[in-house]
Amino acid sequence: VASKQKTANATGLETFDSYLPAGVSVAELTSVIEQYNRDERVDGILLQLPLPAPLDGAAFVRLIAPEKDADGLHPSNQGLLLQGAPAPRPCTPLGVMALLDVAMSGIALGDGTTLTDIPKASLAGKKAIVIGRSQLVGKPVSFLLLERNATVVMAHSKSPDLPSLCRDADIVVAAVGVPNLVKAEWIKDGAIVLDVGINRLPSGKLVGDVDYESTAKKAFAITPVPGGVGPMTVAMLISNTVENCYRRNGIEIV
Ligand code: NAP
Repeated sequence: VASKQKTANATGLETFDSYLPAGVSVAELTSVIEQYNRDERVDGILLQLPLPAPLDGAAFVRLIAPEKDADGLHPSNQGLLLQGAPAPRPCTPLGVMALLDVAMSGIALGDGTTLTDIPKASLAGKKAIVIGRSQLVGKPVSFLLLERNATVVMAHSKSPDLPSLCRDADIVVAAVGVPNLVKAEWIKDGAIVLDVGINRLPSGKLVGDVDYESTAKKAFAITPVPGGVGPMTVAMLISNTVENCYRRNGIEIV
């Protein structure tokens, strides 16, 4: 949350924050969301999930005005994603796609090069596997890959023989939540690996879902944890908010 606020302010966005106690009532949280829905200064609303029990996060996300949804998680926006229609897309999947474009373009960011300079890669003919099928990451990233013409396998905890499914893939997206699940032997030479997982080991160290050290030697490109998909997710939150502002004001998004 701190990183989201810091990045928003650094890019010139004004932020409004409501820190609510864990025991907040349904009525109070509803009223806070409705207040931001009505506030004309606000283009992006983010409800930080998960909510403490017994509050139902999905039910509160449904209260956010879809045109102000910064996370792309409102059911209307998820439906528009399925239809391939314009709408805010979930931030982590957008971050994954942006990093994939960076890897496939071979252009390094920095020295004035920005994401808008990176061409959208053609994924026609590429095989992708997405491990994990959550609403937040796995499902939407699968649809974004499909939208770009990749052939996508959606794997999950009941998928048999994950290693051989992975070995067939040019693009591996791991969004599981199991430390170092994906091993170098599962990766085809030259594949691109996008590690969404954020797992804290008992030692306190943060690691992804992919065994980074060994896989980095085999992959064409791999995202580190921390410092890969996480910061790009924050960047996409800002991008979604700006795009919401454009849409709400009838400005064309190029
Ligand atoms: P989630 O809702 O818990 O979903 C995990 C998915 O992984 C489920 O679909 C589950 O399958 C599958 N899975 C679990 N164990 C598996 C196994 N051994 N083999 C194959 N599939 C398995 O998690 P999530 O919200 O998608 O998050 C996934 C990870 O990404 C977490 O580490 C989370 O912290 C991280 N994350 C990072 C960011 C970021 O900004 N970088 C954002 C969001 C999440 P079933 O459906 O069959 O149970």
